[in-house]
Amino acid sequence: MTDDFLTITILGSGGSPGVPMPGCDCAVCNSDDPHDQRTRCSALLSYGGHNLLIDMATDLRQQSLREKLMKIDAVLLTHIHADHLHGIDDLRPFNRHVEGPIPIYACPADIAHLRRVFPYIFTDLVKEGYRPRLEARSFSGPFRLFGLQVQPIPLRHGNGSSYGFRVGPFAYLTDCSEIPELSLKLLAGVTTLVIDGLRFRPHITHFNIPEAIAEAARIGAGQTWLTHLNHEISHQRHGRQLPPGVAFAYDGLKIQVPINTGFS
Ligand SMILES: [Zn+2]
Ligand SMILES: [Zn+2]
Ligand SMILES: [Zn+2]
Repeated sequence: MTDDFLTITILGSGGSPGVPMPGCDCAVCNSDDPHDQRTRCSALLSYGGHNLLIDMATDLRQQSLREKLMKIDAVLLTHIHADHLHGIDDLRPFNRHVEGPIPIYACPADIAHLRRVFPYIFTDLVKEGYRPRLEARSFSGPFRLFGLQVQPIPLRHGNGSSYGFRVGPFAYLTDCSEIPELSLKLLAGVTTLVIDGLRFRPHITHFNIPEAIAEAARIGAGQTWLTHLNHEISHQRHGRQLPPGVAFAYDGLKIQVPINTGFS
């Protein structure tokens, strides 16, 4: 067993319409600070030469080009909202770099949704055409992926649900409005956290920023990055108001955490 580093790249830090938001003329949507340019919410976990994509955001193509992403080994799906899923066809070029289909991990209900909404990918109905070759794999608890344990974290997302993912001392919790008590136990010992903090005002399906900060304190994370930010958040102006150990994520942010990969 060896210690290594998990590198997290924030591919997208924006809310569902992205920032700037089409049709809006507000100060943040007109900001020339690159931190205020937010593509749809997604992240990449890299370790041991493997790249794990969390969500297939609607900006996946743009994010892949920006980060010069050459390979995706597996995908984790947090939930089925379009901003996290509908970049799925942008996985097609990545099939060239791996043998066989790319595995996509989701809860059983979300796998059923994938089969229903994307039959040309997940059923044999369509035999030809340029479609992503993906293999749906459902999880019902922790699973191992390329030598690391991935712990799904059940979350409430308004009246719906989503999954966060924990890998070692790192957890990624996007799109949530409540962390159930059992899930809080699964987060014990997390030191580095990325968590949904949509805006300062309350929202029915997302933590607002004060709530996200309070949840990070409950978890006890030393460093917290707020993501899924909407156009009401000015990176510079509001960033100064955040407490120590809490900051706004931004597109292209890289975070490193030491991790035991199990590789020898
Ligand atoms: Zn979202
Ligand atoms: Zn705006
Ligand atoms: Zn959502």
